[in-house]
Amino acid sequence: MKIIAVHTHILEASLSQAFAYSRAWYDRHTAMLVEIETDQGIAGWGECYGPARMTAAVVDSVGPWLIGKDPLRTDCLWQMICARLRDHGQKGVAIQSLSGIDIALWDIKGKHFGVPVHQLLGGAQRSEIVAYATGLHRRKSGDPSRYLAEEAVGYAAEGFSAVKLKIGFGVEEDAAATRVVREAVGPGVGLMVDANHAYDSVAAIRLGRMIEQHDIGWFEEPVRPEDIAGYRAVKAALSMPIAGGECEFTRFGFRDLFVSRALDIAQPDTGGAGGLSECKKIADMAETFGIRYIPHVWGTGVAIAAALHLIAVLPPHTPPSLRPIGPILEFDRTEHPIRQAILTEPIEHARGIVRVPDGLGLGIEIDRKALARFAVR
Ligand code: CA
Repeated sequence: MKIIAVHTHILEASLSQAFAYSRAWYDRHTAMLVEIETDQGIAGWGECYGPARMTAAVVDSVGPWLIGKDPLRTDCLWQMICARLRDHGQKGVAIQSLSGIDIALWDIKGKHFGVPVHQLLGGAQRSEIVAYATGLHRRKSGDPSRYLAEEAVGYAAEGFSAVKLKIGFGVEEDAAATRVVREAVGPGVGLMVDANHAYDSVAAIRLGRMIEQHDIGWFEEPVRPEDIAGYRAVKAALSMPIAGGECEFTRFGFRDLFVSRALDIAQPDTGGAGGLSECKKIADMAETFGIRYIPHVWGTGVAIAAALHLIAVLPPHTPPSLRPIGPILEFDRTEHPIRQAILTEPIEHARGIVRVPDGLGLGIEIDRKALARFAVR
């Protein structure tokens, strides 16, 4: 089998209501899908996390290197692309671009061998994955103490056993929002907070001490990703687990985070940190360091499907036992017109549980009409 074409699909959709996380307002979502065609009629799909036009430009540049190559040699192609980009991109957009290509190659591999990707990755440990609800962003109007509480209670009522609150809007305001959400959902629902690296270690520690009493599942991206010493300081000062890694790349980047014991929970993005090939290696490395692996998931159903196949094969965080803990799925619940529309069958949850796709490859089918509807070019 040979690769005959590599296509990029930049997608964009406006939102009915703008939302903010700690660093910016958004009034639209974009996505970048990779489609790889073979001479045997099998096509594979992947998705790149990151700025869509930039990842598309890199994938378009890398595409010709893949023409005529055997798509089943996933590790070899990963090494080849990485080696050719290394001098210009060991992190960021170059690796995000490689990630979407790698996911598409795994989709082809699964379809070729007639099995789901998780079977090729080592076999599924679980067919259903507990999801937590990501949301609780800021809105342009309304009282956050009211709409955040209502939104969180809504997720709990849908059956989600945990929710994640966006923070990073100032220490006092964050402490108040965290208290409001905890009081709204009660003690039985997990509550995580995510600052998207809006703080330095001084502010993060001060905030962490103010919210420790609310049983925080984890404090995500308290400080900027380059600040490993800051992560260590936050981790040493607070009793809650510290999470991060959606802005880190490849096993080499995570090696440095793991060796320095900067994190309790690693969150590589499957479509950003190096694809399924690399994220499986990072996950194996996380296990040897006793660090939990809970992927960052942001994007369309293609990215969600890739994450589900990876999570399916990961061992539990805890050693084998009757009541193993984790891993869990990040499941964004906020408005995203593209997310499920591009799949002929959306990936949904039932009472906070998501089934791992069991079709061939990623187990998803792309709706070409929806793709055309959101296409930027
Ligand atoms: Ca995050």
